Amino acid sequence: MKFSQYDFHRSLLANLELLGFKKPTDIQFKAIPSILKGEDVLAIAQTGTGKTAAFAIPIIQKLLSRKRRHDNQIRCLVMVPTRELALQITSVFHQLTVGTDIIALSTYGGVSQDLQKEELQYGVDIVVSTPGRMFDLNHQGDLQLDEIEYLILDEADKMLAKGFYKDIEDVVRKIPKRHQTLFFSATINKEIKDLAYSLVRNPIRIQLSPKDPVSKNITHAVASIAMDDKRFFLERYLLDHADQKIMVFVRTKVRAERVQLAMQRVGIEANVIHGGKEQEERESALDRFRNGEVKVLIATDVSARGIDIQGIETVINYDLPEIAENYVHRIGRTGRGREKGYALAFCDESEIPLLRAIEDYIGKSIQSIPVSKTDTQFVRLTTDEKKNDWQKLLDDAAVEAAAFLKKSKRKKKK
Ligand code: AMP
Repeated sequence: MKFSQYDFHRSLLANLELLGFKKPTDIQFKAIPSILKGEDVLAIAQTGTGKTAAFAIPIIQKLLSRKRRHDNQIRCLVMVPTRELALQITSVFHQLTVGTDIIALSTYGGVSQDLQKEELQYGVDIVVSTPGRMFDLNHQGDLQLDEIEYLILDEADKMLAKGFYKDIEDVVRKIPKRHQTLFFSATINKEIKDLAYSLVRNPIRIQLSPKDPVSKNITHAVASIAMDDKRFFLERYLLDHADQKIMVFVRTKVRAERVQLAMQRVGIEANVIHGGKEQEERESALDRFRNGEVKVLIATDVSARGIDIQGIETVINYDLPEIAENYVHRIGRTGRGREKGYALAFCDESEIPLLRAIEDYIGKSIQSIPVSKTDTQFVRLTTDEKKNDWQKLLDDAAVEAAAFLKKSKRKKKK
């Protein structure tokens, strides 16, 4: 079924078209009708499945079909664990509400409250917030929770991990008893189930192929490559796919810098994001990657959390992650929504236990790509690194010769 066949408001349909969303993803297909009917939803879904639009589309449709009681009524509250996620979700709401009078705002800590307060005064329909800032604004009387009709909890598992349990309880106490709850979590365990069932009423349950957390859109494989050869294989891959947007994952900050330098030596430009970078540097690296100015982004697991960039064709796992679950997050950067994606892991012999742990986690083995001795010889021989090494050796020799000359002149003078 296409979006054009849904009985949606004109502007919403136009915005979906503009975004290039033609058909709903699995989760959207399952969640939208229930949300429109007013049912509570309990969905276990990873990012990358289209879960944001799965709640944003029907909520916008509902907001558009019923007038707000007054200009300052906040009708929908989305609670999220991080500021990145708040911004990302708000941007989806913005894109889907172009040409309507619906206003979405994100509020989060770490920045001044003034702008957020000002926007709230003008009237906002949807607030996407992390708990701390929301309570601050609520206590100061700037953010009213008493007319909320829709409560959405996104990445509830991360909220619990960050210790927001009590905040969630407090919010529920503050909003009207009659409200619709949409509960989203990437993983499920007893604690999350207990929380979910304390919040939702007769929900419809949506669980997206729990046995296979890897999206159907992603083809993924692993190649046996010795640690010392990884940079040559990466160079070869990047050169052979120079037109693609490629994300490279490494285990540590230091390795991220090293891989960037190795690529620089062979003339391949790559941006790096890791926890040691300033927020500004990180944002600028992401922007340049997002708009295609730089085609390669090297990242660590932590720094890449919550990033949603369209059109990443390939993910390279330069190192295998130490936490198996991160493999799913990493490769989920590609094949988003309805796009197709490819992920390739470079696995050194020492990483085989990590590979087995990943295979256990996803419940199946990962297709292995044979790498022959000839392949390895070929990438070693064709690397640009040697060429540049010679250049560097010559430069170093020239510097040394100059220093020697200076020294011997000084000796002569004496
Ligand atoms: P999410 O799971 O919400 O993080 O969404 C993952 C990605 O899928 C985002 O980049 C969306 O723009 C994209 N997306 C969501 N729904 C659709 C759709 N129906 N068609 C195409 N792309 C979509």
